[in-house]
Amino acid sequence: MISVEQAQEKILAAVSPLEAEDRPLLDCLGQVLAEDIYSPLDIPPLANAAMDGYAVRAADIRGASREVPQRLDVIGCLAAGRVYDGTVGAGQALRIMTGAPLPGGADSVVPFEETSEAKGKAVTSEVFIYTGLAPRDNVRLAGEDVRRGALIFARGRLISPAEVGVMASLGYRSVRVVRRPVVAILATGDELAELGENLLPGQIYNSNSYSVAALARWSGAVPRILGIARDTRDSLVSRLREGLEADLLITTGGVSAGDFDIVKDILVQEGDITFCTVRMKPGKPIAFGRIKGKDSRGVARTIPHLGLPGNPVSSMVTFELLVRPAIWKMLGRGALTRRIVPAILEDDVENKDGRRVFARAVVTPRDGRYYARLTGPQGSGILTSMSDANALAIIAEDSPGARRGDTVPVLRLDWKEELTLAV
Ligand code: AMP
Ligand code: MG
Repeated sequence: MISVEQAQEKILAAVSPLEAEDRPLLDCLGQVLAEDIYSPLDIPPLANAAMDGYAVRAADIRGASREVPQRLDVIGCLAAGRVYDGTVGAGQALRIMTGAPLPGGADSVVPFEETSEAKGKAVTSEVFIYTGLAPRDNVRLAGEDVRRGALIFARGRLISPAEVGVMASLGYRSVRVVRRPVVAILATGDELAELGENLLPGQIYNSNSYSVAALARWSGAVPRILGIARDTRDSLVSRLREGLEADLLITTGGVSAGDFDIVKDILVQEGDITFCTVRMKPGKPIAFGRIKGKDSRGVARTIPHLGLPGNPVSSMVTFELLVRPAIWKMLGRGALTRRIVPAILEDDVENKDGRRVFARAVVTPRDGRYYARLTGPQGSGILTSMSDANALAIIAEDSPGARRGDTVPVLRLDWKEELTLAV
């Protein structure tokens, strides 16, 4: 049985970053740049007012104060979006709004608060200035944020909301990014009913396709749900074919030691198998290999296939540890791991069979430390233990378990604190 790291390595070795494509700017959120982004312009394009007030010559108001105000002639008013075509001469001031280009002759902006206008006086042809200024005070210089021609983001950069904003400020409507992987998801099991159907005796709803599709989408992939294959060779093989156009095929169930667990056999017959068990709990039975065949257009394809365990918690935990890093690699992301932090256990966790345990936990900070409390019973069928958790507490495979008060590494899931993606 191989370790979690060995399994991760084998899976990562089988996938590569996907090709680049142009996408509308907003669709690229969470994707990786496949081009260098240079600025076609200065930002701001012109020197402009950083505050609402009066554009003046600093030399005219040297030494001004509330006791000894400096009187200036008001020559007009300028809103953002317009350019003043005159010049501010000696002894003159131009009323100016934030963002409006600084007029010729002026070198600084006195905020309204430092002028007679602040006292609620009507705007008149004169203004009294209550402060001295240095040139450039309350002025944003042309190109102070971004210089024309400068490299703004290098390829490989992950696009967060701030990158979207910066690229919008440069005028980019679309950018070149590494394509999102398409992940085909097939549930297996004679006991499964599709959402919307009435449950017959002995049936359960197919929840795995949805939790796995949600994880795939959360990880930046495009999930494609293929439905349910029954536990027969024909059913499984014909549904698998529908997944051959994807970049990755995931099945759930049918990989353990039961009479109807045929996914491993199919992998052997329809492709090749790299491993079928990993030393982890939940999730020992996991098959990884490649499926070969012709897609719907008759094109020969070979794609990586992960056969995740059927138990609902196991499929989610194995996804997080083995599938998400592969998706991130295909997306061209650099760091493939999530944050692991030390936390003090508030419950005992036992490890009876020498596997690495990932216990569902709620981690909370207290007095500068993290504390991890288990989310109740840890059976791999108890999916609510997953929905309550924000972390997985990790117990090493060679440890008999950990006690309340021990410090253990916890892998933070933070789904609830992360960005919510609308579709
Ligand atoms: P298996 O690995 O196919 O033996 O499945 C292990 C357990 O997971 C069984 O109790 C199944 O009923 C359950 N299971 C398998 N597939 C699903 C699914 N798609 N949704 C919910 N539970 C499932
Ligand atoms: Mg099954």
